[in-house]
Amino acid sequence: MTARRYDAAIMGGGIVGASAALHLARSGLSVVLFERGFCGAGASGVNYGGVRRQGRPPEQIPLSQRAHVIWAQLKSYIGIDGEYIRSGHLKLARSEAEMASLQAYRDRMAGFGLDLELLSGNMLHDRFPMLGKLAVGASYCPDDGHANPRIVSPAFARAAARAGAEIHEQTEVTGIARDLGGFILQAGGQDIRSDILLNCAGPGAALATEAFGETVPLSSGHPCMGVTEPLPPLFGFNLGVEGGGFYARQVTRGNIVFGGGKGYALDESTCRPDMASAMGALQAGSALLPALHKVNVIRFWSGVEAYMPDRNPVLGPSATTPGLLHGFGFSGAGFQIGPAAGAVLADLARDGHTDTPINAFSITRFAGATVPVPAH
Ligand SMILES: Cc1cc2nc3c(=O)[nH]c(=O)nc-3n(C[C@H](O)[C@H](O)[C@H](O)COP(=O)(O)OP(=O)(O)OC[C@H]3O[C@@H](n4cnc5c(N)ncnc54)[C@H](O)[C@@H]3O)c2cc1C
Repeated sequence: MTARRYDAAIMGGGIVGASAALHLARSGLSVVLFERGFCGAGASGVNYGGVRRQGRPPEQIPLSQRAHVIWAQLKSYIGIDGEYIRSGHLKLARSEAEMASLQAYRDRMAGFGLDLELLSGNMLHDRFPMLGKLAVGASYCPDDGHANPRIVSPAFARAAARAGAEIHEQTEVTGIARDLGGFILQAGGQDIRSDILLNCAGPGAALATEAFGETVPLSSGHPCMGVTEPLPPLFGFNLGVEGGGFYARQVTRGNIVFGGGKGYALDESTCRPDMASAMGALQAGSALLPALHKVNVIRFWSGVEAYMPDRNPVLGPSATTPGLLHGFGFSGAGFQIGPAAGAVLADLARDGHTDTPINAFSITRFAGATVPVPAH
């Protein structure tokens, strides 16, 4: 039987692969996407939901700004608002050293359009009286926000299907090869062929890198999340802390979604939260937001995320194999930039180039790397 042939095949139905599928299908290319579980059920669907540019390194800002434009028009892409709100992102400093670090970041980001506003202790407590006195100041990014990943990420895949992409869930890609006629993928007991292959498999991305002789130091990490009982409206902003360790947002139903601490892996694709670790983060967070001191937590979870040692993704062409494009390793921060990463991959697949600067994300930066770093 002759294998079915597509312009582009995508491995992985997270927000990156599904966004690429949507952009490619809208351009009229024939696209097939294989997802071994359900689209948007991996990191893309279980993450904290922070949609922030603040705190990203300068090399990510052009990609992040491209994503910012997509988020503003989310409904026109995926058909729902995804509970996305531009609530502002407030990053707290607990010491003068942390405040100096926020100031240095603000200075470095001048000209990038983030409109960061530094708030002294008095300004902070006047404007946000729900905060405890541990915070000595903050940096505020007014147009950052948050969204519900459980509905946003699967909606990208559904939108791609409506635009004409073939989406196969519960269909693992088990083998990849290439000959003069392009790529041959084994998936769901069948072979399919494509001119372009997009490797958007997150923690499973090594299948495609290793098949084509590219070794990358990919590891997996498992951030811990929790959600409280519903509470009266307390704060609207997406809360972060300089130096990390705790972050929180309150959804319109009143529950506070928070993150902090690390879970652990059961195997390559499943993990568990470490409740003691998450509760420790909540305890520390209640010093910043005293209303959290006695709340009930109704659920904990974690998710498997692909990390690179420099916390930047691998995004762009393979160094060994024409037609192979990588988009993985978003290192705990790919929800906000995921829609733009998919758009960049679609640019590369369709046009052979992109106007979004991605040199810093080249797979060649790991040339010679052989040993995977330990799990986070
Ligand atoms: C708990 C947690 C909290 C986070 N919080 C935030 C946040 O607040 N803000 C933010 O910006 N980012 C956050 N992130 C990071 C963000 O969720 C990820 O960077 C982003 O979702 C990565 O998208 P992806 O499409 O690359 O990967 P994934 O969502 O991991 O998708 C990859 C998909 O590939 C599939 N796959 C793998 N191998 C195969 C195969 N062989 N065949 C077929 N399919 C395959 C997997 O099943 C998976 O669905 C968080 C991550 C976690 C885990």
